[in-house]
Amino acid sequence: MAIKNVVSVMAPPDPHFVGDGFRVHNFIPQGSRTGMYRMDPFIMLDYNSAHYFEPSATPRGVGVHPHRGFETVTIAYKGSVAHHDSSGGGGVIREGDVQWMTAASGVLHKEYHEEQFSKEGGWFQMVQLWVNLPAKDKMSAPKYQSITKDQIPRVPLPDGNGEVAVIAGSYMDSKGAADTFTPVHLYNTFLHKGGRADFSFPVSYNTALLVVEGSIVVNDAETVATDHFVLFGNAGEDFHITASEDAVVLIMSGEPIKENIVAHGPFVMNNQQEILQAFDDYNQGKFGYLEDQV
Ligand code: MN
Repeated sequence: MAIKNVVSVMAPPDPHFVGDGFRVHNFIPQGSRTGMYRMDPFIMLDYNSAHYFEPSATPRGVGVHPHRGFETVTIAYKGSVAHHDSSGGGGVIREGDVQWMTAASGVLHKEYHEEQFSKEGGWFQMVQLWVNLPAKDKMSAPKYQSITKDQIPRVPLPDGNGEVAVIAGSYMDSKGAADTFTPVHLYNTFLHKGGRADFSFPVSYNTALLVVEGSIVVNDAETVATDHFVLFGNAGEDFHITASEDAVVLIMSGEPIKENIVAHGPFVMNNQQEILQAFDDYNQGKFGYLEDQV
Protein backbone atom coordinates (compact mmCIF):
# COMPACT_ATOMS: atom_id res chain seq x y z
CA MET A 1 0.00 0.00 0.00
CA ALA A 2 1.19 3.47 -0.85
CA ILE A 3 1.91 6.28 1.58
CA LYS A 4 -0.80 8.88 2.03
CA ASN A 5 0.75 12.26 1.24
CA VAL A 6 0.58 15.41 3.37
CA VAL A 7 -0.95 18.28 1.40
CA SER A 8 -0.49 20.94 4.04
CA VAL A 9 0.37 21.56 7.66
CA MET A 10 -1.71 24.49 8.89
CA ALA A 11 -1.01 26.78 11.80
CA PRO A 12 -4.13 27.72 13.77
CA PRO A 13 -5.93 30.64 12.08
CA ASP A 14 -6.67 33.69 14.27
CA PRO A 15 -9.33 32.72 16.81
CA HIS A 16 -12.81 34.19 16.99
CA PHE A 17 -15.50 33.84 19.64
CA VAL A 18 -18.65 31.78 19.14
CA GLY A 19 -21.01 33.36 21.65
CA ASP A 20 -18.81 34.36 24.59
CA GLY A 21 -17.79 30.84 25.61
CA PHE A 22 -15.95 29.29 22.69
CA ARG A 23 -12.70 30.81 21.44
CA VAL A 24 -12.15 28.87 18.25
CA HIS A 25 -9.79 28.45 15.33
CA ASN A 26 -11.66 27.40 12.22
CA PHE A 27 -9.77 24.73 10.24
CA ILE A 28 -12.66 23.50 8.09
CA PRO A 29 -13.81 24.98 5.78
CA GLN A 30 -11.53 28.01 6.14
CA GLY A 31 -8.26 26.17 6.51
CA SER A 32 -9.00 23.64 3.81
CA ARG A 33 -9.35 26.55 1.38
CA THR A 34 -11.83 24.94 -0.99
CA GLY A 35 -14.91 25.25 1.15
CA MET A 36 -17.12 22.59 2.63
CA TYR A 37 -16.40 20.09 -0.14
CA ARG A 38 -12.71 19.52 0.52
CA MET A 39 -13.18 17.47 3.69
CA ASP A 40 -16.67 16.12 2.83
CA PRO A 41 -18.34 14.60 4.92
CA PHE A 42 -16.61 16.86 7.52
CA ILE A 43 -18.02 20.28 6.71
CA MET A 44 -16.85 22.31 9.71
CA LEU A 45 -14.20 22.01 12.40
CA ASP A 46 -13.93 24.65 15.10
CA TYR A 47 -11.12 24.11 17.58
CA ASN A 48 -11.08 25.82 20.95
CA SER A 49 -7.37 25.48 21.72
CA ALA A 50 -6.52 25.35 25.43
CA HIS A 51 -7.75 28.64 26.87
CA TYR A 52 -8.06 29.75 30.49
CA PHE A 53 -11.45 31.18 31.39
CA GLU A 54 -11.65 33.28 34.56
CA PRO A 55 -14.37 32.38 37.07
CA SER A 56 -17.79 33.73 36.09
CA ALA A 57 -21.07 33.75 38.03
CA THR A 58 -22.94 33.60 34.71
CA PRO A 59 -21.94 30.70 32.45
CA ARG A 60 -20.42 31.72 29.14
CA GLY A 61 -21.59 30.07 25.95
CA VAL A 62 -23.95 30.24 23.01
CA GLY A 63 -27.64 30.99 23.37
CA VAL A 64 -30.55 29.26 21.68
CA HIS A 65 -29.94 28.44 18.02
CA PRO A 66 -31.22 25.86 15.53
CA HIS A 67 -29.45 23.22 13.42
CA ARG A 68 -30.76 21.20 10.48
CA GLY A 69 -29.30 18.78 7.97
CA PHE A 70 -26.15 17.48 9.68
CA GLU A 71 -24.56 16.26 12.92
CA THR A 72 -22.55 18.19 15.48
CA VAL A 73 -19.83 16.28 17.31
CA THR A 74 -18.44 17.89 20.45
CA ILE A 75 -15.21 16.44 21.84
CA ALA A 76 -14.15 17.70 25.27
CA TYR A 77 -10.44 17.74 26.14
CA LYS A 78 -10.54 20.20 29.06
CA GLY A 79 -13.44 21.78 30.89
CA SER A 80 -17.10 20.89 30.56
CA VAL A 81 -20.10 22.04 28.58
CA ALA A 82 -23.78 21.82 29.46
CA HIS A 83 -26.29 21.37 26.69
CA HIS A 84 -30.08 21.83 26.60
CA ASP A 85 -32.47 21.36 23.73
CA SER A 86 -36.09 22.11 22.85
CA SER A 87 -37.23 18.51 23.37
CA GLY A 88 -36.31 18.78 27.05
CA GLY A 89 -33.07 16.87 26.64
CA GLY A 90 -29.81 17.98 28.11
CA GLY A 91 -26.54 16.81 29.52
CA VAL A 92 -22.99 17.66 30.42
CA ILE A 93 -20.00 16.87 28.24
CA ARG A 94 -16.95 16.43 30.46
CA GLU A 95 -13.26 15.82 29.82
CA GLY A 96 -12.88 12.75 27.60
CA ASP A 97 -16.58 12.67 26.67
CA VAL A 98 -18.08 13.08 23.21
CA GLN A 99 -21.55 14.26 22.30
CA TRP A 100 -22.67 13.13 18.87
CA MET A 101 -25.82 15.09 18.09
CA THR A 102 -27.82 14.28 14.98
CA ALA A 103 -29.68 17.50 14.26
CA ALA A 104 -31.22 16.04 11.07
CA SER A 105 -34.74 17.54 10.63
CA GLY A 106 -34.03 20.10 13.31
CA VAL A 107 -33.16 20.90 16.89
CA LEU A 108 -33.06 24.07 18.90
CA HIS A 109 -30.37 24.07 21.54
CA LYS A 110 -27.98 26.10 23.66
CA GLU A 111 -24.43 25.31 24.71
CA TYR A 112 -22.89 26.80 27.86
CA HIS A 113 -19.94 26.16 30.13
CA GLU A 114 -21.16 23.84 32.87
CA GLU A 115 -22.20 25.79 35.99
CA GLN A 116 -19.54 24.58 38.42
CA PHE A 117 -16.78 24.98 35.82
CA SER A 118 -17.97 28.55 35.22
CA LYS A 119 -17.88 29.40 38.92
CA GLU A 120 -14.39 28.01 39.40
CA GLY A 121 -12.94 28.99 36.03
CA GLY A 122 -10.29 26.86 34.39
CA TRP A 123 -8.71 25.51 31.26
CA PHE A 124 -11.08 24.83 28.43
CA GLN A 125 -10.27 22.88 25.25
CA MET A 126 -12.83 21.44 22.82
CA VAL A 127 -13.42 20.45 19.23
CA GLN A 128 -16.72 20.88 17.46
CA LEU A 129 -16.91 18.96 14.23
CA TRP A 130 -19.86 19.03 11.84
CA VAL A 131 -20.53 15.83 9.92
CA ASN A 132 -22.83 16.17 6.92
CA LEU A 133 -25.80 13.86 6.36
CA PRO A 134 -26.73 12.39 2.98
CA ALA A 135 -29.89 13.88 1.41
CA LYS A 136 -31.95 10.81 2.32
CA ASP A 137 -31.23 11.30 6.04
CA LYS A 138 -31.30 15.09 6.37
CA MET A 139 -34.95 15.13 7.49
CA SER A 140 -34.78 12.06 9.74
CA ALA A 141 -35.55 12.37 13.45
CA PRO A 142 -33.00 14.14 15.66
CA LYS A 143 -31.08 12.03 18.20
CA TYR A 144 -28.20 12.19 20.64
CA GLN A 145 -25.38 9.86 21.41
CA SER A 146 -23.95 10.94 24.75
CA ILE A 147 -20.71 9.02 24.86
CA THR A 148 -18.79 9.07 28.10
CA LYS A 149 -15.04 8.59 28.28
CA ASP A 150 -15.35 5.03 29.64
CA GLN A 151 -17.66 4.00 26.76
CA ILE A 152 -15.01 4.74 24.13
CA PRO A 153 -12.99 1.61 23.24
CA ARG A 154 -9.24 2.09 23.65
CA VAL A 155 -6.88 0.02 21.51
CA PRO A 156 -3.41 -0.36 23.04
CA LEU A 157 -0.49 0.34 20.70
CA PRO A 158 2.51 -2.01 20.46
CA ASP A 159 5.22 -1.77 23.14
CA GLY A 160 3.02 0.24 25.50
CA ASN A 161 3.55 3.34 23.42
CA GLY A 162 0.03 4.64 23.83
CA GLU A 163 -3.50 3.90 22.72
CA VAL A 164 -6.14 4.79 20.17
CA ALA A 165 -9.57 5.77 21.51
CA VAL A 166 -12.10 4.84 18.83
CA ILE A 167 -14.91 7.41 18.85
CA ALA A 168 -16.40 6.25 15.53
CA GLY A 169 -15.61 3.80 12.76
CA SER A 170 -13.04 1.19 13.63
CA TYR A 171 -9.37 0.80 14.41
CA MET A 172 -7.75 -2.62 14.10
CA ASP A 173 -10.60 -4.88 15.22
CA SER A 174 -12.25 -2.42 17.58
CA LYS A 175 -15.49 -0.76 16.61
CA GLY A 176 -16.09 2.83 17.68
CA ALA A 177 -18.63 4.02 20.23
CA ALA A 178 -20.73 6.17 17.89
CA ASP A 179 -23.11 5.10 15.15
CA THR A 180 -22.71 7.08 11.94
CA PHE A 181 -24.87 7.47 8.82
CA THR A 182 -21.95 7.23 6.38
CA PRO A 183 -18.49 5.68 6.87
CA VAL A 184 -16.51 7.88 9.27
CA HIS A 185 -13.45 7.08 11.35
CA LEU A 186 -12.74 9.36 14.30
CA TYR A 187 -10.06 8.61 16.88
CA ASN A 188 -8.19 10.26 19.72
CA THR A 189 -4.66 8.93 19.69
CA PHE A 190 -2.62 9.13 22.90
CA LEU A 191 1.10 8.66 22.39
CA HIS A 192 4.02 8.60 24.77
CA LYS A 193 7.19 10.34 23.62
CA GLY A 194 8.75 8.19 20.91
CA GLY A 195 5.55 6.21 20.40
CA ARG A 196 4.24 5.40 16.95
CA ALA A 197 0.77 4.78 15.55
CA ASP A 198 -0.08 3.52 12.06
CA PHE A 199 -3.25 4.30 10.13
CA SER A 200 -4.73 3.16 6.85
CA PHE A 201 -7.78 4.62 5.11
CA PRO A 202 -9.10 4.24 1.55
CA VAL A 203 -7.60 6.64 -1.01
CA SER A 204 -10.99 8.23 -1.68
CA TYR A 205 -11.66 9.09 1.99
CA ASN A 206 -10.95 12.66 3.06
CA THR A 207 -8.44 12.55 5.89
CA ALA A 208 -6.94 15.03 8.35
CA LEU A 209 -5.51 15.23 11.84
CA LEU A 210 -5.27 17.84 14.58
CA VAL A 211 -2.49 17.87 17.18
CA VAL A 212 -4.31 18.67 20.41
CA GLU A 213 -1.34 18.22 22.70
CA GLY A 214 2.40 17.74 22.24
CA SER A 215 4.05 17.44 18.85
CA ILE A 216 4.46 14.72 16.24
CA VAL A 217 6.23 13.79 13.03
CA VAL A 218 4.11 12.46 10.16
CA ASN A 219 5.58 9.81 7.84
CA ASP A 220 9.06 10.52 9.30
CA ALA A 221 9.03 13.78 7.34
CA GLU A 222 6.64 16.49 8.52
CA THR A 223 7.01 17.96 12.00
CA VAL A 224 3.68 19.13 13.38
CA ALA A 225 3.37 21.28 16.50
CA THR A 226 0.54 21.65 19.02
CA ASP A 227 -2.72 23.11 17.61
CA HIS A 228 -1.62 22.46 14.02
CA PHE A 229 -3.79 20.69 11.47
CA VAL A 230 -2.63 18.29 8.77
CA LEU A 231 -4.58 17.84 5.54
CA PHE A 232 -3.81 14.61 3.66
CA GLY A 233 -4.10 14.12 -0.08
CA ASN A 234 -6.29 11.57 -1.84
CA ALA A 235 -3.37 9.43 -2.91
CA GLY A 236 -2.14 6.44 -0.97
CA GLU A 237 -3.70 4.79 2.05
CA ASP A 238 -1.15 4.58 4.82
CA PHE A 239 0.47 7.06 7.16
CA HIS A 240 2.06 6.93 10.55
CA ILE A 241 2.78 9.41 13.28
CA THR A 242 5.52 9.42 15.89
CA ALA A 243 5.44 11.52 19.03
CA SER A 244 8.30 13.98 19.61
CA GLU A 245 6.85 14.43 23.10
CA ASP A 246 3.73 13.04 24.80
CA ALA A 247 0.94 13.82 22.38
CA VAL A 248 -2.82 13.72 21.83
CA VAL A 249 -3.90 13.65 18.19
CA LEU A 250 -7.41 13.73 16.73
CA ILE A 251 -7.59 11.67 13.54
CA MET A 252 -10.52 11.91 11.12
CA SER A 253 -11.23 10.14 7.85
CA GLY A 254 -14.52 9.79 6.02
CA GLU A 255 -16.05 8.68 2.77
CA PRO A 256 -17.21 11.77 0.86
CA ILE A 257 -20.99 12.00 0.40
CA LYS A 258 -20.50 13.80 -2.92
CA GLU A 259 -23.80 15.65 -2.93
CA ASN A 260 -24.48 19.33 -3.47
CA ILE A 261 -23.97 21.44 -0.32
CA VAL A 262 -25.90 24.65 0.30
CA ALA A 263 -25.19 26.06 3.74
CA HIS A 264 -26.58 29.06 5.50
CA GLY A 265 -25.48 29.54 9.11
CA PRO A 266 -26.86 26.64 11.15
CA PHE A 267 -28.59 24.94 8.21
CA VAL A 268 -26.75 22.67 5.76
CA MET A 269 -28.94 21.30 2.97
CA ASN A 270 -28.67 20.26 -0.68
CA ASN A 271 -30.31 23.25 -2.37
CA GLN A 272 -31.51 26.81 -1.80
CA GLN A 273 -35.18 25.78 -1.63
CA GLU A 274 -34.45 23.56 1.37
CA ILE A 275 -32.60 26.42 3.08
CA LEU A 276 -35.61 28.72 2.63
CA GLN A 277 -37.82 25.93 3.96
CA ALA A 278 -35.58 25.63 7.03
CA PHE A 279 -35.94 29.38 7.73
CA ASP A 280 -39.72 29.11 7.24
CA ASP A 281 -39.99 26.16 9.59
CA TYR A 282 -37.79 27.89 12.14
CA ASN A 283 -39.81 31.12 11.97
CA GLN A 284 -43.06 29.16 12.36
CA GLY A 285 -41.77 27.55 15.55
CA LYS A 286 -41.46 24.08 14.09
CA PHE A 287 -38.10 23.61 15.82
CA GLY A 288 -39.86 23.95 19.19
CA TYR A 289 -39.23 26.44 21.97
CA LEU A 290 -36.39 26.92 24.44
CA GLU A 291 -35.71 29.63 27.06
CA ASP A 292 -32.61 31.62 26.27
CA GLN A 293 -31.48 31.67 29.90
CA VAL A 294 -28.96 29.23 31.22
MN1 MN B 1 -25.01 24.28 18.21
